Amino acid sequence: MKLMRLGKRGREKPAVWASENSAIDVSSVVADFDPSFFAGDGIEKVRAALAKGGLPSIQLESVRIGPPVSHPGKLVAVGKNYAEHAKETKSAVPEKPIFFAKATSAINGPYDDVVIPADYATVDYEVELALVIGRRAKRVDRTAALAHVAGYMICNDVTERTAQTKEGSQWFRGKSFDTFAPLGPFLLTADDVGNPHALSLICRVDGEMRQNGNTKDFLFDIPYLIEFMSRNVTLEPGDIITTGTPAGVGHGMNPPVYLKAGQELELEVTGLGQQRTRLVAEKAL
Ligand code: ZN
Repeated sequence: MKLMRLGKRGREKPAVWASENSAIDVSSVVADFDPSFFAGDGIEKVRAALAKGGLPSIQLESVRIGPPVSHPGKLVAVGKNYAEHAKETKSAVPEKPIFFAKATSAINGPYDDVVIPADYATVDYEVELALVIGRRAKRVDRTAALAHVAGYMICNDVTERTAQTKEGSQWFRGKSFDTFAPLGPFLLTADDVGNPHALSLICRVDGEMRQNGNTKDFLFDIPYLIEFMSRNVTLEPGDIITTGTPAGVGHGMNPPVYLKAGQELELEVTGLGQQRTRLVAEKAL
């Protein structure tokens, strides 16, 4: 099942993808795809309502597609989870997962513009597989970890490299600028994903392939990420973990190449659809 949120920013309604052109409006069944939806029996409720039928349909071309999850408590990211990416950033392969946070205020829809801030010029892309927690996780063993995942979606971990690395190594800030976390277009429920460690990830800039990786190359797999993080930090329903980016970021090119206003990004992950975002310059203040 592909969960989507449709409508203007901040006023999205929950829906389920039905075809290339249409979705089923499930706003009469559940209020939103928010932490309380994931904590309760929201997915089962939606499934039962779809089976019963009679829900209104929405034409996708006439509506904005928002991020698939509303008001997550945390957006946690993993640094250097692919050996080739660690190499291109001239860093050692980590011995333990590197976790950092992105501000949830950076969350953006999968086709919304990404804003290049007026005072920075080193914005970069990172295609990633993100997961959403469905059941609270505290000290979860790796063998039970995947049962805590509600579903998977694409995340672009957009990063301002100067803010991230040259202004006091402030990953939180450099990864959290407004619009720097496009999510979606939909959350694919875990039962429909199959093996999350065999998905290809692609990022193109103006049609040119820049990243072409596969989640089979994770340094730390999803069960280990959940086990390690949940030892000390409770993962709540609706929390998002984005699992790191493969090689091919602009920052790792020689010389480095960064994004410019007017360019278009296309991100794809097997089974999780496609994001398409335009880079725009921040409007004069
Ligand atoms: Zn990343």
